[in-house]
Amino acid sequence: MDLLNPSLPTPLQELSHEILDRAEVKLLIKRDDLIHPIVSGNKWRKLKYNLIEAEETKQKAILTFGGPYSNHLYATSAAGKAMGFETIGIVRGEDNELNQTDTLKFCKEQGMKLHFVSREEYRKRNTLSYLHEIVKKFNYPFLINEGGTSSHGLKGVTEMVTEVGEQLGNQPDYYAVSAGTGGTTAGILSAGENVLAFSALKGGEFLEADINELLSSFEHRGKLKLFTEYHFGGYAKYNSELLDFMNRFNSDFDIQLEQVYTGKMFFGLFDQIRKDYFPKGTTIVAVHTGGLQGLL
Ligand SMILES: *Cc1c(COP(=O)(O)O)cnc(C)c1O
Repeated sequence: MDLLNPSLPTPLQELSHEILDRAEVKLLIKRDDLIHPIVSGNKWRKLKYNLIEAEETKQKAILTFGGPYSNHLYATSAAGKAMGFETIGIVRGEDNELNQTDTLKFCKEQGMKLHFVSREEYRKRNTLSYLHEIVKKFNYPFLINEGGTSSHGLKGVTEMVTEVGEQLGNQPDYYAVSAGTGGTTAGILSAGENVLAFSALKGGEFLEADINELLSSFEHRGKLKLFTEYHFGGYAKYNSELLDFMNRFNSDFDIQLEQVYTGKMFFGLFDQIRKDYFPKGTTIVAVHTGGLQGLL
C-alpha cells in the first residue's frame, strides 16, 4: 500500500530562539506537516493502519465522522479515493450555507458522500447501538472513528515516535502536541513517552478520561500533562494575539502554523517556556501535526 507516496521520515529540526536560550530548553519540531500535502500530519499517521485493514479485508466503502472543518474528513476523502474506496462522511451540523466549507467542498470533489446529522445525533458517534444502526443504513461500510482515533490510529502514531528516537539518538523529555480527540496524544503515551498536550477545544478537561480510555489496554505508558487554557475561546476560534504569534513564528523559523491546532499549541508551549515551567536542560519535541489546508 502506498498511501499517496508519503515523504518519510519527516524532518526533525532544532529551533533556535532567545527565549529557548534563556530557559536552557532544547526545542525541536517534528515536521509531520511535510508527510503529504493533502493527507498531512497526524491524520496520515492515524489513517495508515485503518486503511491497511480496510484493504486487507477487501472493503468497498469507508465511513467516518467529522465536523465541517475536519482535517480528518479531508484526508480520508482523498486517501479513500486514491485507494479506490467509496467514502461516506457523517458530518456534524445542518446541511446549510454556513456549513458549505472549503473542506467539505473538497471532500465532495473527491467523491465523498456527505450525510449531515444534528449535534445530538453526532454525540452518539461512539456508541455501539448507534454504530450498528448507521452501518446498516449505509450497507455495511468499514468504520473509522472520528479523527482516525482507534487502536489502529495509535499504532500509526507510535511510528512517529520511533522515527524521532532514531533521528535524535534517544527520546526527548517530552513531546508537545495539540489535542482534538486526544488520539495523537494517546499514541505517543502508548509508546511509553511523556506528552504535553494542548487542548484545541474549550473545556478540554474531558480529554484526560478519553485518553485513559484509549490507553486502557496499555500497561506501560508515558506521563500526560494536559494544558486546557490555550483554547482562545473554543474550537476553531482565534484572535489577533494568536494570528500575530503565528506570523512571528513564521518569520522567526520560516514554518507556517494554522490557527486551529498548531498555532495554539506553540503559543501555549512558548508561554510555558517563558514562565519557566521546564527545568534547565529539558528537551522537547513539538509535533507539527499539519492541517495547513485549514489555514485562514
Ligand atoms: C486533527 C488534528 C489534531 C488533533 O489530533 P487528535 O489526535 O484528534 O488529538 C491536531 N493537529 C492537527 C493539525 C489536526 O488536524
